[in-house]
Amino acid sequence: MKILSINAGSSSLKFQLFNMPEEKVLCSGLVERIGELKAVFNIKVNGEKKSQVQSILDHREAVSLVLEGLIKYNIIESLDEINGVGHRVVQGGERFKESVVITEEVIEDIVALNDLAPLHNPANVTGIRAFMKVLPNVVQVAVFDTTFHSTMKEDAYMYATPYEWYEKYGIRKYGFHGTSHQFVSQRASEILGRNDLKIIVCHLGNGASIAAVDSLKSVDTSMGLTPLEGIPMGTRSGNIDPAILGVIAEKEGKNLQTLLDDLNKRSGYLGVSGISNDSRDIVDNMLLGHKRATLAYKIQIKRIADYIGSYYVYMKGLDAIVFTAGIGENAPIVRTDVIEAVSVLGVKLDEEKNELRGENIISTEDSKVKVLVIPTDEEVMIAREVFRLK
Ligand code: AMP
Repeated sequence: MKILSINAGSSSLKFQLFNMPEEKVLCSGLVERIGELKAVFNIKVNGEKKSQVQSILDHREAVSLVLEGLIKYNIIESLDEINGVGHRVVQGGERFKESVVITEEVIEDIVALNDLAPLHNPANVTGIRAFMKVLPNVVQVAVFDTTFHSTMKEDAYMYATPYEWYEKYGIRKYGFHGTSHQFVSQRASEILGRNDLKIIVCHLGNGASIAAVDSLKSVDTSMGLTPLEGIPMGTRSGNIDPAILGVIAEKEGKNLQTLLDDLNKRSGYLGVSGISNDSRDIVDNMLLGHKRATLAYKIQIKRIADYIGSYYVYMKGLDAIVFTAGIGENAPIVRTDVIEAVSVLGVKLDEEKNELRGENIISTEDSKVKVLVIPTDEEVMIAREVFRLK
């Protein structure tokens, strides 16, 4: 059975085609700059990347191009071979506590959540509608970034703000990167051979979040109502004192939207270092003695350690710390420094294993807490959900 996994952004569309249940990737690709005359269609077939530049005016054209590409490159013979399409949807609010088969009513409910994710949900819906038009008889499933965290208890997800904000507008913590946290914690449980583990997942990419997972259920996570809360990231500030907004608004005459842009796009690694949002640039410059790159790096390590300590206490123990995503998977120095910062928990890294690539247990035999690196795979998680619901 062939299933497409889709992640639609406002001007991009990422796709992966799986043969299920074997979970074999048949091809993957990305359409970028949708809406422009020089849009780019990238597709990877048998490890070989092919690119074509052409006008792609909207998501529907992008979807048609992807489907034509699958036939043109002999990945499928006809569109009838596609048995299901899974769509990543960022915000599922309280309405969606699990993945769902998409109907018109489901789309309306996703649209109703636009206020909570104005940058993401509208683009996700555009992708869904485009596929429904082009493949009207194929099952489409929505897989939400938030559902894995729907097991958080009230004390973890409520803010100490006026209660009516929650009642009227749904102001609470939802958490994100759920498919990644779920994939990685399930895999860690398989590797360690137990389902009752207390795990802290550090998803460290350009966006970054930490999750506390007890017996395969998320009990807390660092992102909040939006992906801005939590640890500092490539360009996002993570937690700050909200009163800062008032001070800067007054000093610089900035409006709220500009201030939120500052926190979302001009903070984190980029804002502190003044150099880059990319961890490779931050680490390289730190090693050359750049003061603000070093500071940006150190702030993030401290904040990650703060969350690990807090979740260790909240879960009343800890069996494993797992690193994943671009930085978590590829930057041994970050893993070394995070583990050093929480060494009071009796966790010890095997520095040789820490240098290995791919999936590995990287703690020493006598470490009280296991440390693992597990490459995340949000696409396969989406395909699994389609396969389960079909
Ligand atoms: P993601 O958002 O998961 O794609 O992760 C992006 C982040 O991963 C960027 O900050 C990259 O600098 C970082 N990253 C990717 N590859 C490497 C690498 N080989 N070494 C260090 N960091 C990396």
